[in-house]
Amino acid sequence: MEKTTETEGIIFKIKRFSVHDGPGIRTSVFLKGCPLSCIWCHSPEGISSDISIWYDKSLCIACGKCVQICPNNALEIISDTETYININRELCNITGDCVKACPTCAIQFTGSKIGVYDVIDEIEKDFLYYKMSGGGVTLTGGEPLYQPDFSAEILEACRKKNIHTAIETCLFCERDTISSISDYVDLFIIDMKIFDTAQHIRYTGKSNEIIKENFRYIAKSGKPILVRIPLINGITDTEENKNACVRFVHDVDSRIQIELISYNPLAENNYKRLGIPFILK
Ligand code: SF4
Ligand code: SF4
Repeated sequence: MEKTTETEGIIFKIKRFSVHDGPGIRTSVFLKGCPLSCIWCHSPEGISSDISIWYDKSLCIACGKCVQICPNNALEIISDTETYININRELCNITGDCVKACPTCAIQFTGSKIGVYDVIDEIEKDFLYYKMSGGGVTLTGGEPLYQPDFSAEILEACRKKNIHTAIETCLFCERDTISSISDYVDLFIIDMKIFDTAQHIRYTGKSNEIIKENFRYIAKSGKPILVRIPLINGITDTEENKNACVRFVHDVDSRIQIELISYNPLAENNYKRLGIPFILK
């Protein structure tokens, strides 16, 4: 892509050949930052918009190189019933010396800053696959609308290159944010979690009133929508909640497709790597 001044954003992953984030073969771009804090979040590294470090004990060979190089004494080797690295996150200021020193990638950054052009360069690599499969790009996260300018520029650039665009969103955002990107979105993939507002606040930290309003707004605009309901045992997967969500969606527009999404049990590992409690457990 020809380079002028560019907007930068923070992402935690770009996944090529994705087949679960919209039609065809896609490139999924995972943006950091989310206004909700669902207790089951399967990508907890995407909740904070800040870059931090995480530690994967299964990759660590306890060589101690990270401990020796850290300028802030934020790391120590603990030899207990097992040997592992303890991170004092109060002392860590993300210099990244440990990331560079680690021979096994057991310590890594949870995200990286990247410019729109570099994202587009990555997306364009699979242009032929998109054309052959009816695929394209999907912005997901985290919550892509948490970085609205960055998301809008990626989607606009893809549109100019005739790449199909989808955005996976919880819709917890200002109406203006949706208006600013809507022209560049071919498909809204909307995560609908809990219909009851009090339960939504309890399990995600935020009310769903604005989400419902934004949903009606997008549906009224005629944009294609796919609704996804994550199935969380005893929380979202109750008959009462599923029926209420389906009734709400189909009262707005009975043609909208709804998918039920199974929970990924491997998510717990990401909480361990980040050193944060897995409340759902
Ligand atoms: S990122 Fe820097 S400050 Fe943080 S633990 Fe690693 S070396 Fe220490
Ligand atoms: S440098 Fe990597 S492998 Fe070595 S102790 Fe630190 S985290 Fe473990």
